Amino acid sequence: MIDILRNSSSFVLDLLFPPVCVFCGEISRRSVCAECADGYMRAYFRECGECGRRAVYCKCDLPKGVSDKISLFFYGGPLVPPLRYRAKRSRSVRREDFIGGLLYENMLANPAFTEAAVITYVPRDPGKVRKFGVDQARDLARGLSRHSAKPAVKLLKCVRGAGEQKTLDKQARAENIAGKYAFCDNFDINGKTIILADDVLTTGTTVSECAEILRHAGAAKILAVSVAQTKLER
Ligand SMILES: [Zn+2]
Ligand SMILES: [Zn+2]
Repeated sequence: MIDILRNSSSFVLDLLFPPVCVFCGEISRRSVCAECADGYMRAYFRECGECGRRAVYCKCDLPKGVSDKISLFFYGGPLVPPLRYRAKRSRSVRREDFIGGLLYENMLANPAFTEAAVITYVPRDPGKVRKFGVDQARDLARGLSRHSAKPAVKLLKCVRGAGEQKTLDKQARAENIAGKYAFCDNFDINGKTIILADDVLTTGTTVSECAEILRHAGAAKILAVSVAQTKLER
């Protein structure tokens, strides 16, 4: 409700719920405040250490079962971790719109993405959704949905918990995540191209697992989108 009100241009509502910068959370009339604007441009144009491309064009380490990917940023630097931290703790339509708009602009140049039928997301652990009241990947899917006019649908559910992935290597991550998710079986995805949203692509284990489930359910092609990827930049 607060976010709906925040979108209003009403002076009174702006006083009650001042619009804030999507990155630092400081009060700002613009989506990116003056202080963050410079860092934002540097983050957006940072290049991959392997292929030399910007994050949005880098196709290194494509997760297994995924045909293509778009990540907006490389993880790290002064802007992206605070953005992710905030996205995991509160929902903001303004943030969703900003990130969704950036993804959509990059999607437009890629026919595979424009032809996709539906947007879904890697669901957050239900315990964390209860604790924080937010699922950051669902919010990412919602933002992209509003720009692209493609439906955002929950196609995957968590069927069991899993320990933290952070400290594990790739093999251990795969074992930790196996069997964690299942298809909701609520939507006919047979032969369809699906956009799969996650907030950060690390080793791609989670996205690969989800892609496999969707392909097993009949999806023809899985395309990943994320706010950031952990590929090292130059
Ligand atoms: Zn800022
Ligand atoms: Zn690369």
